[in-house]
Amino acid sequence: MALKEPDTILVSPCLPPRWWSKETVAVVTGANKGIGFALVKRLAELGLTVVLTARDKGRGLNAVELLKNQGLHVHFFPLDVSEPASIKKFASWFQETFGTLDILVNNAAVSFNHINENSVEHAETVIRTNFNGPKWLTEALLPMFRRSDSAGRILNISSRLGLLNKLKNPKLREMLLDEKVTENQIEGMVRLFLENVKSGIWRSQGWPTVWTDYAVSKLALNAHSKIMAKLFKGRELSVNCFCPGFTQTSMTGGKGKYTSQAAAEVATCIVLLPPEKLLTGKFYVGSTPGVYSKL
Ligand code: NDP
Repeated sequence: MALKEPDTILVSPCLPPRWWSKETVAVVTGANKGIGFALVKRLAELGLTVVLTARDKGRGLNAVELLKNQGLHVHFFPLDVSEPASIKKFASWFQETFGTLDILVNNAAVSFNHINENSVEHAETVIRTNFNGPKWLTEALLPMFRRSDSAGRILNISSRLGLLNKLKNPKLREMLLDEKVTENQIEGMVRLFLENVKSGIWRSQGWPTVWTDYAVSKLALNAHSKIMAKLFKGRELSVNCFCPGFTQTSMTGGKGKYTSQAAAEVATCIVLLPPEKLLTGKFYVGSTPGVYSKL
C-alpha cells in the first residue's frame, strides 16, 4: 500500500495561469535548507530567475549543487541577514547583476528553543535575525523593485506565535492596534523586550509565553509589515506575511504536520498570485493560500 504523506497539500491547483517569465527575479533568504530551500526549488521549477542566499557559503553552494543535479539552475550569493555589512554587499552585487527585483521572500530565521522550552538566552540574536534582518534587507532592496503592472512582492515568513492575541501587555496591544503605529514605536517595543530580558523581569510583562523571544521577533515583523504594506498600497508593491504552520524542519527538530515542500508550495502560490488577485497587508496561514486575516 502506498504511504500517505502527512497533510501534504495538492501541488498545482493553487497556481494561477503563468504571468511570470524567466525575467521575473526572486530572492529567498536562508535558503540552504528547510522551507527556503524548497521554495527556491519550486520557483526555479516554475521558470523564474531565482537567487538562493545563505549565510554560510559552503552550505549555500551545496544547496545550489543539489538543485543542479536535478536540472535546476539558480544563482547564489552569501547573505547573513543579521549583518548590515553582508546586506550591503549583497545589495550592490544584486544591483549590478540583475538591477531589478520582483519577489523578495524574507525566510531566514532562528530559534534556539526545542519544542516545549522557553529560554531567552539568545534573545538578541533572535530579534536581530528575525526582525532587524528582514527589515534591513527590505530597506536595502526597496529601490530595486520593479514597479510594473505585475507588481513587486514581499513575503515575510512569519509565525502565528507572533500574532497580537499572544501579547497580553495592554499598553503594547493598544499601541500595535493603533493604525498610526510607527516604526520607531515597534523598535521601542523590541528594545523594551530586550531590556526586560536583561533585567530578568520578562516573564511578568505580558509578552507571549511560547518561544517568547521568537514570538516577539515575529510580532515585530508582522507590525513592521503592516506599516510597509500601508506605505506602498497602490504603488505596485505588496507586502504580506505567511505562517507555514508546524513544519518538519531543523527549527522544529524535524517534528511537524507539514513537509517543507508542502509549506513552500503554499508560499509559492502566495507570491505568484496573479496581479489582479494580489492583496497587501495580509497574514496568510496554514495549508491553503486562501486563508488570511488583516495584518
Ligand atoms: P530552518 O531552521 O530549516 O531554516 C532556517 C534557515 O534560515 C536556514 O537556512 C538558516 O541557515 C537560515 N538562517 C538563520 N540565520 C540566518 C542569518 N543570520 N542569515 C541568513 N540566513 C540565516 O527553519 P524553517 O525552514 O522551518 O524556517 C523558515 C521560516 O519559516 C522561518 O522564518 C521560520 O520562522 C518560519 N516558520 C517555521 C515554522 C516551522 O514549523 N518550521 C513554523 C512557522 C514559521 P543555517 O543553515 O546556516 O542555519
